[in-house]
Amino acid sequence: MKKAVSVLLIAAMTALLFVGTGCGKQKQLIMATNAEFPPYEYHEGDKIVGIDAEIAQAIADEVGAELVIEDMAFDSVLASVQTGKADMGIAGLTITEDRLQNVDFSTPYATAAQVIIVKEGSSITTPDDLAGKNIGVQLGTTGDIYADDIEDANIERYNKGFEAVQALLQDKVDAVIIDNEPAKVFVDQNEGLIIVDEAFTYEEYAIAVKKGNTELLNKINDAIKKLQDSGKLQEIVDKYIKAE
Ligand code: GLN
Repeated sequence: MKKAVSVLLIAAMTALLFVGTGCGKQKQLIMATNAEFPPYEYHEGDKIVGIDAEIAQAIADEVGAELVIEDMAFDSVLASVQTGKADMGIAGLTITEDRLQNVDFSTPYATAAQVIIVKEGSSITTPDDLAGKNIGVQLGTTGDIYADDIEDANIERYNKGFEAVQALLQDKVDAVIIDNEPAKVFVDQNEGLIIVDEAFTYEEYAIAVKKGNTELLNKINDAIKKLQDSGKLQEIVDKYIKAE
């Protein structure tokens, strides 16, 4: 009898323990990104910070989940959303027709442009001058896609945008095609580089979710709208992008 009681007691305590940890453990919201894209996502010490990281945190707060940021190669971000390994891709992701075949996108939260970085004094002064040149891009980005259309150009693809910029500094490529805000950061950090006046294309950034995950998509869109209406989004942007 005594034994039976203690077995019951242990069972009850174990059950309580499970319930207890279950309550304490918040649902996770997994964000896939490539933290090589300042000011949207980059490493600061052992943390990943930036505009996208803060937007993601605001969405997680809204959804009542714990944000988990997973850093990976840029060309894995959409794949991990597609396969459900991550709940959302936030990586300065440009909405494109091709990508819309594979994932759903939120309402846009930023506008961007592909720009050209060259060395000071370069003969490349407009996008037309890129024909026949060696061009550095980050693998799988819209810069990569656009560079592909340039006549007789030789495209060098790097895993990180900054690696493309280093190749330019070392004269391994003649120009780099990359998003405008990271371009500004890289040009500020490295002497002798300029951004060509004329932008290459205009695009919009949005958050990617698995196709058909309307439940999460609606929550994300609600969160974006709240961030926009309250002025919080602008506050986040202003924190990372200083007005010229
Ligand atoms: N906006 C570009 C794209 O979506 C680049 C994004 C990035 O490098 N993180 O392809």
